[in-house]
Amino acid sequence: MAETNQYDEQRAANAKKEMDALVYESLKTHEVKPNAIFAKLSEITKAMPIANKMVNWSRVNSLWPMQFGLACCAIELMDFGSARIDSERKGYLFFRATPRQCDVMIVAGWVTKSMVPEIKRLYEQMSKPRYIVAFGECATCGGPWWESYNIVKGIDQVLPVDVFVAGCPPKPENLFAALMKLQAKVGGNIEG
Ligand code: SF4
Repeated sequence: MAETNQYDEQRAANAKKEMDALVYESLKTHEVKPNAIFAKLSEITKAMPIANKMVNWSRVNSLWPMQFGLACCAIELMDFGSARIDSERKGYLFFRATPRQCDVMIVAGWVTKSMVPEIKRLYEQMSKPRYIVAFGECATCGGPWWESYNIVKGIDQVLPVDVFVAGCPPKPENLFAALMKLQAKVGGNIEG
């Protein structure tokens, strides 16, 4: 019996050795080389002021808002994306469904205290530099729920807001104006 156990142990040890060798070989063949193009681009950006301007220009002209809504203002946000307003007609607003591909959070609706950790988590997953638009009275100051026990008096109590949009409900056209303001701010044309 003892002999059988010894035999099994030896077999397991051999199998592990074989497996380790295979893993090592596969890691060697799939070695990830540093991305030369992006490394060079980042060096050029640091070295040349003109490259900085180009990076800023592309930031200004590629705002990617996140697809998410909290309450009735989210209906206005949907209207913003509808054919009537056609938010993508300018070519720089590209709504994405994952925070990792977004740099603009449009807070549309009231913010309950229980939603704060979730909103913060989404914000932290967004690409930097990232911006916030408070869309509507509720996101700006709590709106009609100003005195409610469970509504935050504006998203700026928990996250930094770049542009506020007034209205209950706010008009989708005003969101266009707000995003153009944000463009001006990102481009350094207005103080934030
Ligand atoms: S601002 Fe008005 S429309 Fe928007 S979420 Fe609040 S109550 Fe609803």
